[in-house]
Amino acid sequence: MTAGSAGGRTDWDLVVVGAGPAGSAAAIAALRAKPGARVLILDRAPIGRDKVCGDGIAPHAVAELADLGVDAVRPEENVALVRLVGPGGTDAGALTSSPGYVVPRAEFDERILRAALAAGAEFEQERVTAVAGGTVNGRWSAPVVIGADGSNSVVRRAIGEPANRGRALAVAIRGYAPTPAGRPAELSIRWDSQRAGGLCYAWAFPTAHGTTNVGYGMSSAAPLHSRAHLEQRLHELLPEYDLAGVALTGHTLPLTVSRPRPAVSTAGAGAVLLVGDAASLINPFTGEGIYSAIASGAMAGAAAVGDAPGPTYARALAYRFARQHRQTTALYRIIDFPVVLNTVIRAAARDRRMFDRLLEVGLGDAAFTVADLARFGRHAF
Ligand SMILES: Cc1cc2nc3c(=O)[nH]c(=O)nc-3n(C[C@H](O)[C@H](O)[C@H](O)COP(=O)(O)OP(=O)(O)OC[C@H]3O[C@@H](n4cnc5c(N)ncnc54)[C@H](O)[C@@H]3O)c2cc1C
Repeated sequence: MTAGSAGGRTDWDLVVVGAGPAGSAAAIAALRAKPGARVLILDRAPIGRDKVCGDGIAPHAVAELADLGVDAVRPEENVALVRLVGPGGTDAGALTSSPGYVVPRAEFDERILRAALAAGAEFEQERVTAVAGGTVNGRWSAPVVIGADGSNSVVRRAIGEPANRGRALAVAIRGYAPTPAGRPAELSIRWDSQRAGGLCYAWAFPTAHGTTNVGYGMSSAAPLHSRAHLEQRLHELLPEYDLAGVALTGHTLPLTVSRPRPAVSTAGAGAVLLVGDAASLINPFTGEGIYSAIASGAMAGAAAVGDAPGPTYARALAYRFARQHRQTTALYRIIDFPVVLNTVIRAAARDRRMFDRLLEVGLGDAAFTVADLARFGRHAF
């Protein structure tokens, strides 16, 4: 169905608010679980909108999309080398066994949304301001509403769940710098030596267009999280990039260390499910949120067209992520101690297995085992 043809219809099986990776994945999963279902996606922005992001697409996200029948990446967007640089300068660089991709979000998100439309979803450009009793903006009704409207979710607020704040929220800026000549194609992350109460690093992810997505992020609890400070640290941590004239844009990242109820069911008024950033699913160690947006969207979409959508989705989400969420919440308290970060990166530099485990936990849904933690410990000095 083409975009914008939804007109005044109110009899939907599912209304999805937000056409990012989470919302489009939800629509596709719903239509795969129940072909012919009437699925409406609403977004305040037109198709092809940009999203402030590092544009790093983890292999886990690509696999999750493949499970939904979506091929959203191109061979030339593949970047197989990952380099992690610790606050003490420890450098762990390696070719990953399952490579990631760098795709500007305007392109990546449109590809997934177009797949949802091809599967039968309809799209309407509309800013959602109210969700009550299974009706969106007093106009669009469905037994299930999925809130996929990102880090400042209106749907989340409508069910009484406050937004993340303090240490549970990171802030970041990003822009596109020209890729310096001769620079190896690698996903580079450089942790800051300044402690900031959580996530705090610069990244440089090269796109297939001769530009590199450069950015810097830190906890919003840090005393120095002003825009000027973010820009200064970006310049200092990535000196080889020419940032003159590069437009830097900021955005927030709601981290998994504080999450809302993912589903609320009301007798007679149906269910509201939260996915992706609206559900605070960003990994606090890496800032990865696209894989978890797609995974949670897919689980919510499938649950939405079955029996007991709320409990089914909440169970599926816990089954996939509960262990990682518990662990990252506990470890987040110590993650910005330089000795901890340096130990982890030293272990990754010396021990290929630890490098791979780090990527599994940082980019996917894995948690460290006791054996992993013991192995890290051996590299403390
Ligand atoms: C600077 C930065 C760098 C990042 N880098 C990475 C990275 O490299 N890799 C990675 O995996 N993750 C990264 N993330 C996290 C990633 O961007 C998010 O986790 C991801 O976009 C979440 O997808 P989503 O579909 O939940 O939400 P979004 O992508 O934010 O989509 C939400 C959609 O909802 C729409 N919307 C919002 N409000 C309304 C409304 N009221 N009515 C209608 N529509 C509405 C928006 O227009 C948008 O299209 C980064 C985040 C930031 C801020």
